[in-house]
Amino acid sequence: VFSLITIGTMNAQKKPHLDKTKPIEERISLLMKEMTLEEKVGQMNQYNGFWEVTGPAPKGGNAELKYKHLRDGWVGSMLTVRGVKEVRAVQKIAVEETRLGIPLIIGFDVIHGYKTLSPIPLAEAASWDLEAIKKSASIAADEASASGINWTFGPMVDISREARWGRVMEGSGEDPFLGSKIATARVKGFQGETRADLAKVNTIAACAKHFAAYGFAEAGKEYNTVDIGNATLYNTVLPPFKAANDAGVRTYMNSFNILNGIPATGSPFLQRDILKGKWKFDGFVITDWASIREMISHGFAKDGAEASEKAVKAGSDMDMESYLYVAELVKLVKEGKVKETLVDDAVRRILRVKFELGLFDDPYRYCDEKREKAIIGNKANNDGVLDMAKKSIVLLKNDKNLLPLKKSGQKIALIGALANDKNSPLGSWRIAADDNSAVSVLEGMQQYKDNQLTFEKGADLTIGKTSFVAELVFNTTDKSGFDAAKKAAANADVVVMVLGEVGFQSGEGRSRTNLDLPGVQQELLEEIYKVNPNIVLVLNNGRPLALPWAAEHIPAIVEAWHLGTQTGNAVAQVLYGDYNPSGKLPMSFPRNVGQCPIYYNHFNTGRPANVDKNVFWSHYTDVEKTPQFPFGFGLSYTTFDYKNLKINKTAFAKGEAVKVSVEVTNSGNYDGKEVVQLYIHDVAASLARPVKELKGFELIELKKGETKTVTLTLTDKELGFFDNDGNYLVESGTFKIMVGGSSDKGLESSFELE
Ligand code: BGC
Repeated sequence: VFSLITIGTMNAQKKPHLDKTKPIEERISLLMKEMTLEEKVGQMNQYNGFWEVTGPAPKGGNAELKYKHLRDGWVGSMLTVRGVKEVRAVQKIAVEETRLGIPLIIGFDVIHGYKTLSPIPLAEAASWDLEAIKKSASIAADEASASGINWTFGPMVDISREARWGRVMEGSGEDPFLGSKIATARVKGFQGETRADLAKVNTIAACAKHFAAYGFAEAGKEYNTVDIGNATLYNTVLPPFKAANDAGVRTYMNSFNILNGIPATGSPFLQRDILKGKWKFDGFVITDWASIREMISHGFAKDGAEASEKAVKAGSDMDMESYLYVAELVKLVKEGKVKETLVDDAVRRILRVKFELGLFDDPYRYCDEKREKAIIGNKANNDGVLDMAKKSIVLLKNDKNLLPLKKSGQKIALIGALANDKNSPLGSWRIAADDNSAVSVLEGMQQYKDNQLTFEKGADLTIGKTSFVAELVFNTTDKSGFDAAKKAAANADVVVMVLGEVGFQSGEGRSRTNLDLPGVQQELLEEIYKVNPNIVLVLNNGRPLALPWAAEHIPAIVEAWHLGTQTGNAVAQVLYGDYNPSGKLPMSFPRNVGQCPIYYNHFNTGRPANVDKNVFWSHYTDVEKTPQFPFGFGLSYTTFDYKNLKINKTAFAKGEAVKVSVEVTNSGNYDGKEVVQLYIHDVAASLARPVKELKGFELIELKKGETKTVTLTLTDKELGFFDNDGNYLVESGTFKIMVGGSSDKGLESSFELE
């Protein structure tokens, strides 16, 4: 083996594109001069390295064919290859057995960690802690790169207002401003601060996905039609994608959906005009899984040839698992239907990223078994994800001051199947993680030994195995464990109930029409309440839930999402007050599913806002129109008072910085953290503007009794908006502002922009 590698490397060293002293663009040109059309098209093809191929492939579509293609130079990238040994094996074929020895770029869905898992991305967004989020992505990059991977299909930057959509767990919620900041943090966490950092062995290329508007699938049904106006496209959907580009993201993934009739994969408007045109993106676009082929089902292409032609013309550079570029592109170029310059452009982009990653300098640089052993699952990474997990928890209610729990002398009943679950807290998208590798809430609570803890599951949540592929079957009949749970509750000072969704109930293909507690959980909750109302409800979920009964009756509610490997430790530390919760919701929680989509930055109706208190018809007759828990909301064990809101002037010229300051005091009994949020409302403009828009925030830490003055700045970047042609406008007029600890209330003021 050793001598083969040496020979391969020696041969390779003679090739001029391997001269490290030359600039990358020149090296690409040198290599491309050597490439046949077939070899170029090969670079535009990505195969899955693990699962059996499902869709129909040109000649059978089995693993054998894929490996033959790999040997013949028809593969530029592989995804979901697991571990250094496997990566080395496929890389060796590409580098040592193909004519030009072009290394593969190895992709993987590193969505919230690799093996050591962080909270699901939506949970992380609740921290509003950009440094922590960046750190979490860098831990993921460190582990993934140590496992042979050099490219992640993340961050997912789709804004969504649809709690019914399962993939909200992968994003940052409903707000484009917060979403853009988080997109930046994640891109930098994965890739490093600058493009040069990509060459470091512990960074990986990021991929902003899914371009674009996938989060606006009608009624939250997976892969459904997207039909939105340009105001939403330019002002809500695109900003986080633009932020990712500004942060230097090296790849984008397009999306499965149609947008106003055109599949994203076949959209020159999205990919050529906006992404590669206006934004000057110079990395490459990967399609989503078989999305070129899906254009046939969409009714946008009659066959694979037409789908390929439309995709490549639209700027889809690399085909993930459609098997169509390899089957069709050479012919399309030879027939004159696709210009070879389009192929050249795609290949140059792909090679550019491979060069930047250092793959041509050492194709095995990510294949270091020693690093793999040392990095994956090490203590530092576990400490890192624990820190992120604590920061992601949101305290939704704490009426009787049940929390924090007293550390001794208490009888605590812990109830709910999820409390003893070591798999569910890992959440969806955890391909590389070991099953049952999370610290459960029970295990976390057991660390606090001076209380008497009893656990009763009450009822099984699901029937059968819950895996990514299996459908979930909930237990709706077996309540045989209720009595034991009630007994434990009756004997306890405090009851902690862990209820919610299992880990695979959100994620891709996991849309819901109910946002309740599945199975018999709601019934269990109500039964326990009858015997002991001192309940702390800990929620596990991958999306906003609608729990009106709990919101009314249960005194303490803790939103704990799916928090990853360290779940139980994080939850226990928060419940016992060793960590004072500081998370704020990144998505509105509805009162019931009929309110969806519900989001804070909506528009006014024509009914005057000041008199429309549910009496002027823009309301529901059966439920309040406000959310149960609004965007930006989250409590602490302490309290924060806001006063002295000031703007440095009353009128500003365009381009001037508007300085908004406010005094925040920790007026309670614990040290704590608060997210100070600044919202604006552009009162009258050439396009109607939302009632509120988040345009600034700062996470501050205050000792009890301490006061800090926080200053947030608004510039043209925050005060303008996009018109329906995508032009950015900053318009004169009155701007109202609101500053507070949630989107629903705060101190108000206003200024003029002249
Ligand atoms: C998902 C992508 C993912 C890809 C590869 C697709 O089904 O939509 O987000 O990156 O699969 O696993």
